[in-house]
Amino acid sequence: MKANFQGIPASSGIAIAKAYKLKVPNLSYTHKTFTDSEMEIQRFENALKQSKQDLKCIRESIRRKLGDDSADIFSAHLLILSDPTLIVPTKERIIHKRLIAEEALDQTRTLLIEMFERMDNRYMKERALDVQDVTNRVIAHLLGVDFPSLAFINEEVIIIANDLTPSETAQFDRKFVKGFVTDRGGATSHSAIIARSLNIPAIVGARDLTHYVSEGSLIMIDGHTGKIKINPSDNDLRMYRREKKMREQQNKKWTVLKDEPTWTEDGQRVKIAGNIGALEDVQAVVESGGEGIGLFRTEFLFMEKNQLPSEEEQFTAYRFVLEKMGHKPVSIRTLDIGGDKELNYLHMPEELNPFLGVRAIRFCLKHETIFRTQLRALLRASMYGQLKIMFPMVATIEEFRQAKALLVEEKKRLIQDGVDVATNIKVGIMVEIPATAIMARQFAKEVDFFSIGTNDLIQYTMAADRLNERVSHLYQPYHPAHLFLISNIIDAARQEEKAVSMCGEMASDPLAIPILLGLGLHELSMNPSSILSARSQIQGLSQSQITSVKHDLLSMHTAEEVLQYMKENNFG
Ligand code: PEP
Ligand code: MG
Repeated sequence: MKANFQGIPASSGIAIAKAYKLKVPNLSYTHKTFTDSEMEIQRFENALKQSKQDLKCIRESIRRKLGDDSADIFSAHLLILSDPTLIVPTKERIIHKRLIAEEALDQTRTLLIEMFERMDNRYMKERALDVQDVTNRVIAHLLGVDFPSLAFINEEVIIIANDLTPSETAQFDRKFVKGFVTDRGGATSHSAIIARSLNIPAIVGARDLTHYVSEGSLIMIDGHTGKIKINPSDNDLRMYRREKKMREQQNKKWTVLKDEPTWTEDGQRVKIAGNIGALEDVQAVVESGGEGIGLFRTEFLFMEKNQLPSEEEQFTAYRFVLEKMGHKPVSIRTLDIGGDKELNYLHMPEELNPFLGVRAIRFCLKHETIFRTQLRALLRASMYGQLKIMFPMVATIEEFRQAKALLVEEKKRLIQDGVDVATNIKVGIMVEIPATAIMARQFAKEVDFFSIGTNDLIQYTMAADRLNERVSHLYQPYHPAHLFLISNIIDAARQEEKAVSMCGEMASDPLAIPILLGLGLHELSMNPSSILSARSQIQGLSQSQITSVKHDLLSMHTAEEVLQYMKENNFG
C-alpha cells in the first residue's frame, strides 16, 4: 500500500493528526415538472435566504478569526446570491420552462460560469469558482442535503479532500484542524490563500491521495516540502515532531536576516532566490528576503485552467512577477508539462513511461503554437524586470538550439510589429538529465546559464522514479554519481564563465548545502519558506574549509559515506 505522497506545498508547517475525509455532498436531482410555479419560486427564495444566512455566519466567524480581508470573500459570495443575473433567469426558467428550482439554477449558473471562464481576465475566471461554490450551497438547501459541517469538528484532524472551496476552508477551527491536503487544486485557489492566512500547513495537488487514506488513519504532512506520509513510523513521528518544534522556535530568530545578503563566515557571497508556482508566492519570496526568483514553474498557470491561458493572460502574469521583483533576476521556466503533470484539456496520449516521454521542452517543440505563445508573452514581459528564460528537460544541444531559434524568431516578429523587447534577456537551461550534465561543457558554450534540477537529475541518474516510494531508497541526492554530475556542471559553467544555480529541492536541504558550497555552487533557489534558514546556515559555514573536502567527497563510494564524512567533519 502506497504510504508516501508528494503534493504541491501550499502553506508551510508540519502537522500530524488523524485523517478526516471530507465527504462530498450528493447534489444530484432528478428532472421533473411541477404544478405550482409560485411554490417553486418560494422554494428557491427560501433556499437563497438560508444560504445567505449561512454565509453571514461564516463571514462573521472569519472576520473574528482573520479580519476583514479574508471575510470579504464572503461578502462577495453574498453579492452573488443577490445578483439579478443569477436570480432573474433562474426564476424565468422556473416560470417559462417549468423547471424545478434545482435544475433552473443549475442551468443559469452553468451559463454564468462559462461566461466567466471565457473572460480574458484571471480575476474574473476565478469568479467562476465562487459562483459554483455559492450555488452548490443553494442547491443543497433545495435538496435538503447537509453541506459538510466542518465547523463541528471537535478533535485534532488533518482534512483530506478531493478539493476544498473557500467557504469550507474558512470554517476550519484552527484548534482542531491541524492542516489539509487536497487531491486537486493550484496554489492560487482561495483555499490555499486562506490556509496561508490561517497559518496552517496545507498541501494541494496530491492527485489521488483520497483513494489511499482511510478515515481516522494517522497522517503526517509537511506543508513546506509537500510531503505526505500515511501511518508514519515511530521514527518518522519522532523526527517530524522534533523538526516542527525546532522550526517554530527558529523561524522567529531568522526574521532579522531578511534584508541581509548571504555570506559565509569567511566572506564567500552566496545568492539565495525563491521558487514559485503561483503569482501570490512572489510575496513570500519578497518577505523572506529572496534575492530573485530562481524558478517560476509556469505550468501551474496552465494546470489550474480548463483551457490554455492566452498570450495576454500569460503576459500579465509574467509582468506581475517581474515588476514585483524589481531589479532582481527572475528565471521563468517555459512549460514543463508531461510526466506527472497533465493538462486534461489537451487530451495528451497516454504513455507507458511518462517521465521518459513527451515532457517539458519535448512537448513544447512538438506543440510549437503553444510554445510560441508563451515565448511571446515572456518577451513582451521582459521590459518590466530582469528576465531570464529557462528551458526544462533539455537532453540535446539541438533541442536548445531549436528552442532558442523559436525565441529569436518571435523576438524579431515582435520588434517588427513595434513591440519593445528587452535586450538583456538571459537564456538558459535546466540541467536535469545525466546526458546534459555530462555534456555540460559543450552546453556551457551556448547557454547563458544553468539551473540544476536535482528533483529530476536524481531520478534519471539513479533510475528511481521520484514518485515511487518503493524505490525511494535509491533516490539518493548524496550519491557520489549525482555529486559527480553536479560538480561537472559547476566546473563547466565556471570554465565558460556562465552562471550556475540549483533550483531542485536539494538546494534547500541543510545536509546538502555544505556539500553544494564545497562543490563550488554559490547560487541557490528554493521554496521561500526555506530562504532564511538557509541564509542562517550559510553564515556559519567556512567556504575555504568546505572547498578543501571537495576531492574527498567525489571519491567516496556510497551516499552513506558522504553523509558520514560530512558529519564527522562537522559540516552536516
Ligand atoms: C527539478 O527537476 O529539480 C525541478 C526543479 O523541476 P520540477 O521539480 O518541476 O520537475
Ligand atoms: Mg524537473
